[in-house]
Amino acid sequence: MPRVTHLSRGAMLLFTLLSILPSLAAPFLLPLPTPFTSSLSAAYTTDVLILGSGPSSLSIAALLAQSSNPPSITLASATLDSNWIPNYGVWESEWTHLASQYTALGVSFDSSCINRRWSDTECFFKEPTPELLNRAYLRIAPVGLRTVLMSCLKCPHVNLLPLNVAHKVIAPNIYTPPVAFAKDTTTVTLTDGSTVTAKIVLDGTGAESRFTVRSRAGEGYQIAYGVDCEVKGEVSEAKAVVSRGRE
Ligand SMILES: Cc1cc2nc3c(=O)[nH]c(=O)nc-3n(C[C@H](O)[C@H](O)[C@H](O)COP(=O)(O)OP(=O)(O)OC[C@H]3O[C@@H](n4cnc5c(N)ncnc54)[C@H](O)[C@@H]3O)c2cc1C
Repeated sequence: MPRVTHLSRGAMLLFTLLSILPSLAAPFLLPLPTPFTSSLSAAYTTDVLILGSGPSSLSIAALLAQSSNPPSITLASATLDSNWIPNYGVWESEWTHLASQYTALGVSFDSSCINRRWSDTECFFKEPTPELLNRAYLRIAPVGLRTVLMSCLKCPHVNLLPLNVAHKVIAPNIYTPPVAFAKDTTTVTLTDGSTVTAKIVLDGTGAESRFTVRSRAGEGYQIAYGVDCEVKGEVSEAKAVVSRGRE
């Protein structure tokens, strides 16, 4: 069955986890397969098409690329060579567990993936006195993590296309994804008019994905963000949930 799967936050935790310096990106842009057409736009075929180059897309691409019987993989994203914008925080226990799972699947994270560790965490709820969680917290190094994942994609069976999926806007925050379903495949059109026909399409274009058809605007969007900031002195008068790492 042709299938388009949106990578949820749950999947993101499993596949979590690059920003590569633009100067380092070029070696990863592998030669593309010969297109079926000789026009400017091309027609590619692949086993798995992955959309986006955020943590979830690169993670699942790395895991698939390193698997024992890897499928052919095409990853399409106009921001392939861009740094990730958000910072990512994670409980140390969860990271350790995740990293061991990744290692078992052929993707190993080294110390370059973490750039800060707090041995304990204080949470401010309504009371001014913080609650100590006795739980270590880590800040992931986006460049380090992205570099590790991208290095896993330097394989002949992986094609990186620096192109987005084309969308037609039909209303605010409502888009028509350019997808054509056949019996066993799905064909997606990219911004230059090229098409990619795949057995499986994975949508990793983020919480505000324009690829997923929604019945109404505002559905499934991220509504809360963490803020990473340095604070001088004590944190006080917390009005909401605030967590603070302790050295
Ligand atoms: C300020 C901030 C702080 C955050 N802090 C944390 C945190 O501490 N911990 C945590 O777990 N999460 C945090 N998040 C959430 C985090 O950003 C997301 O969970 C995570 O980035 C989701 O990864 P993703 O790969 O699914 O999507 P994204 O990171 O959103 O990546 C989407 C990718 O799809 C690409 N794309 C978009 N449109 C198209 C298209 N049409 N065609 C092809 N590609 C496309 C984008 O260029 C991008 O490469 C934070 C977010 C923000 C904004």
